[in-house]
Amino acid sequence: MNENLERFLRYIKIDTQSDDNSTSTPSAKKEYDLLNLLRKELLELGIEGEITKEGRLYAYLEGEKGLDVIGLNSHVDTALEMPGKNVKAQIIENYDGGYIKLNDEYSMSPKEFSSLKGHEGDTLVVTSGDTLLGGDDKAGVAVIMSVLAYLVKNKEVKHHPIAILFTPDEEIGRGPEHFDAKKFGADYAYTVDGDYPDHIDIENFNAAHADVTIHGVGIHPGEAKGRMVNAISLGVLFDSMLGQEARPENTDGHDGFNHCGSFTGDVSKAELHYIIRNHDKEKFLAQKKKFEEIKEFIEKKYPTAKIDLEMGDDYKNMKEIIDQDPRALNHAIEVFKKMGITPVHAPVRGGTDGATFSFLGCPTPNLGTGSYNHHSRYEFLSVRDFNQMIEIVKELVKA
Ligand SMILES: [Zn+2]
Repeated sequence: MNENLERFLRYIKIDTQSDDNSTSTPSAKKEYDLLNLLRKELLELGIEGEITKEGRLYAYLEGEKGLDVIGLNSHVDTALEMPGKNVKAQIIENYDGGYIKLNDEYSMSPKEFSSLKGHEGDTLVVTSGDTLLGGDDKAGVAVIMSVLAYLVKNKEVKHHPIAILFTPDEEIGRGPEHFDAKKFGADYAYTVDGDYPDHIDIENFNAAHADVTIHGVGIHPGEAKGRMVNAISLGVLFDSMLGQEARPENTDGHDGFNHCGSFTGDVSKAELHYIIRNHDKEKFLAQKKKFEEIKEFIEKKYPTAKIDLEMGDDYKNMKEIIDQDPRALNHAIEVFKKMGITPVHAPVRGGTDGATFSFLGCPTPNLGTGSYNHHSRYEFLSVRDFNQMIEIVKELVKA
């Protein structure tokens, strides 16, 4: 087995699931298990890394003077949807393109998972059906470490100076916290945290949340005529006024949505929690405005009711920054073309840590990893695509 794949298999054995109930940083102590191992492996390569008190691992590999410093980032934590402990990877050599049995209960095939298509003859790493694999984002971590190992062992290969950053807590949205652009020292960077190798992601959602608290008027139902204002009914009205077409289940591509993630309450008080998403800034602002308008409309129609509306922004579309400073994007496109790869730019229907890095002064598009079906038991690594990602990142940093 080649050492790059061994590296991946070594990392996924370490449980690094982040914890959204924790307020400490990193959210789970066990994230240090991988951070410490990475620092040790970097040191073995002669690269000194520093783990900050917030659990961010920064490192730097000197390169040719006068060239842009290229940053590389991946996250060490894994998602919360599935356990990340006791990952027992199964290796399928020479995949026949058909049905894959994970265990007695679960299996997968290209019929349900289009990401499996075109992998005939490939070597796949799959789960045992009870856990996730951890390819998100240990495949990214392994890509970066493999490129660094290659450069250190092949001193004749001239390359850009490389700034390295491994972060915890991406899966709970706290990866970019404590990001220190100056300490990182990159002119621009790439998160290696996607799936398909031919993708360069430069667009993600603008994101906000809205907490709607409706105070109705609770009265004995026998004497309610003309007086009761049921907060539940107003909640239903509020949600219906946002429109069917703007719901996640009815949107894809560049369509934004308002998603009601929870609705609880009784006659006198109801609470609705929303996330608001759109790639387009104008449409995003209009969506937020609609929340205000609906509040006003309902309060006018039901003067004895009251609605508290609290909204806040969560992250922004990095395209705004990439458009202003396209060096990272242009460099990647050039390298892809040189390698004969046609780049695909698909809008990310979520956030990326790179979006926040971009707004903090370091333009950071996202690249693939060769791992697929993230956050689930159906996660798998395509060894062919993983190896291609290593070649892509090597070319990106070569002088
Ligand atoms: Zn990820």
